Amino acid sequence: MQRAGLSMYKLAYVNGEWVDSNKKFPVFNPANDELLADVPDMGESEVQKAIDAAKEAFEQWSQTTAKERGAALRKWLKELEGNKQALAEIMTKESGKPLVESLGEVAYANSFVDWFSEEARRTYGEIVPSPVKSKELLMVREPLGVVGLITPWNFPMAMITRKAAPALAAGCTCVIKPAEDTPLTALALAALAQEAGIPKGVFNVVTSSRSNANSVGKLLCTSPHVAGISFTGSTHVGKILYNHCSQGIKRISLELGGNAPFIVYSNANLEKAVVGALAAKFRNCGQACVAANRFLIQEDVFDQFVELLKTNITKSFQQGDSSKNEKCNLGPLINLAQVEKVDSIVKDAVSKGAKVVLGGEKVSSLGDKFFAPTILTNVTPDMLCYTEEVFGPVAVCIKFKTEEESLQIANNSSTGLAGYFYTSDISQAWRVAKKLQVGMVGINEGIISHTEAAFGGVKESGIGREGSRHGMDEFTQIKYMCFGNL
Ligand code: ADP
Repeated sequence: MQRAGLSMYKLAYVNGEWVDSNKKFPVFNPANDELLADVPDMGESEVQKAIDAAKEAFEQWSQTTAKERGAALRKWLKELEGNKQALAEIMTKESGKPLVESLGEVAYANSFVDWFSEEARRTYGEIVPSPVKSKELLMVREPLGVVGLITPWNFPMAMITRKAAPALAAGCTCVIKPAEDTPLTALALAALAQEAGIPKGVFNVVTSSRSNANSVGKLLCTSPHVAGISFTGSTHVGKILYNHCSQGIKRISLELGGNAPFIVYSNANLEKAVVGALAAKFRNCGQACVAANRFLIQEDVFDQFVELLKTNITKSFQQGDSSKNEKCNLGPLINLAQVEKVDSIVKDAVSKGAKVVLGGEKVSSLGDKFFAPTILTNVTPDMLCYTEEVFGPVAVCIKFKTEEESLQIANNSSTGLAGYFYTSDISQAWRVAKKLQVGMVGINEGIISHTEAAFGGVKESGIGREGSRHGMDEFTQIKYMCFGNL
């Protein structure tokens, strides 16, 4: 059913009710600076109420059957499916991503609700052969309890469903704190959860400005009533939360930054590699933790690849506000801080001798948050773009000679989320896939995220996995039962 006025939800959602706060913060459209809404700027005492509501709701929700929870998720899915267009429009307004990408994100986000509505019934336990005749040994999975879900702005819908769907499927209740840039999508999700009959207190959304994020985050991580935290965002904030969680030995799942290598070997199909490169680099204007961050190109195909990349970028993208011109398929960056970060990374590279093959600057004719698709070559290890996650439409191209050198550069990073490479040599494919120090590998493929597969990183890219059957593990704990004297 299409829900009229879906975009009108501007209050927080706690214990099945829409709640206000005496403080508010504004949400803007980054493409044109239009004020979209003032939403409640909740502090600790207000978030505490959401934790209390989730704790109370857990008593009942955790006692429902897996089949009932699966059915509840399917009702939510029906609402989400029925409101695809409205959800995508809200997302485009508050994040600036092109509408076609928002529609893609709705489909991706819904795939988690679909998948975990089914996985709910597959949270199997185990009975293991006992070493002693008079005993039987059983292990069952039980829900963690109340979980705090803290999410970023780059995928305002999917980062919520990827956490909330397995949490609810497992029997957990949740308090969701969306990013301050994109709370409206989260509130729309709450409206549809309400419409779907998800019981009060099971799905709560609290909205807070950046100035309250620290105290609210700390409360969620240290409250004795919260059993676990699932966070997607920067490595910097992830470390703060990990630290807080250590106080109460609290379960934490972290999906943090990446610095994905995208390697092109000289035997690769360059046309396919360029198509993959565009998808891996420019989706969401480069603002994805799995975005290709460093293009490592073997020396004998370097010039050819860079030329192909330039031609394809020029013919594939039209930058601008997609709500005004639906042909626009490359949006703005989320906020001025991101624009300044990307700009300073490019300026740093240029000042140290990098060559700008394409773009290289802000596009002020479109607004103050648009940065042109950019290609940099002559890149050296002393440049910020060599080591930092750019989070913008900048393709950093680095030349290498041997496979060994490509792996050495690729793995020389404190993070390890995704890695991509293109080759037509099967032995090389296996060798490189095994040696890349990342959680996810794209082999001759630039788009790798699917609900059926485990998403997550190694090193400072995080802890835990989302999606796939392993996604349930983050929200369940094993209880071992020993039946004796049999
Ligand atoms: P980005 O740099 O991409 O904005 P962040 O890691 O800063 O990513 O933000 C991701 C999420 O973490 C957002 O919901 C944000 O409000 C929240 N956040 C930011 N700082 C803190 C903090 N100190 N404690 C808890 N949450 C925080």
